Amino acid sequence: MKRICLNRNQVFRGNLILVNKNHPIRKEGGITRIGFPESEEEMEWRAGEALLELLRAVDREEELALVSGFRRKTEQRKLYAESLRENGEEFTAKFVAMPGCSEHETGLAIDLGKKGGQIDLICPDFPYSGICQEFRKRAPEFGFVERYPEGKEAVTGIGREPWHFRYVGAPHAALMTKWKLVLEEYVRLLRDCGPEHLKVCLDGKRYEIYYQKCQGPETEVCVSEEQKVQVSGDNEAGFLITAWCSL
Ligand SMILES: [Zn+2]
Repeated sequence: MKRICLNRNQVFRGNLILVNKNHPIRKEGGITRIGFPESEEEMEWRAGEALLELLRAVDREEELALVSGFRRKTEQRKLYAESLRENGEEFTAKFVAMPGCSEHETGLAIDLGKKGGQIDLICPDFPYSGICQEFRKRAPEFGFVERYPEGKEAVTGIGREPWHFRYVGAPHAALMTKWKLVLEEYVRLLRDCGPEHLKVCLDGKRYEIYYQKCQGPETEVCVSEEQKVQVSGDNEAGFLITAWCSL
């Protein structure tokens, strides 16, 4: 076994951080971003690389527009104020996150639209058919989930947004899709498992996923020597640990 030492700051970073109106971003800045060809949008670099791979994997990627990726808090504030003015309170509460509470500020989210005609910058058209549906179907393989699906509005606090995709990484995107869980529910499931490891097999690979509460400035975790381990904060009180196990 080897010990890894987790710093308290890591609670607020990582591909699984939960960001919503009850869980604002606690650590601003320090995001390494990458851009995309023929686009002004940027994403956190791992999410961006995964998006590029996903776009290459779907046919006719040139039909898809990257509408909105990383936003600074000041940009979110401006967008929110503009939407309040132009669209009113009810619409804004449904589709625009409060400044400091938007996944776009993490660099892990991307809004996409179908090219052709005017693209609505808040609610771009991204139908459940054709190239958009192909993108949606392949997204989990590359670590992305449709973050605000129909029927989960009461859990996410956001209206259905067919255009908003969130990078959570592998194997989480595939598991969330398979189990029909949004990030709020997935993180709760892992927390509720307590020290029990969730053991899953997916596409011939075996994973153990578990929650570790933050125990102070430094939290020690024991993992097996040969395991590849990934740690993400939950943006609240602990760490979500994913171990790739040998079969
Ligand atoms: Zn969005």
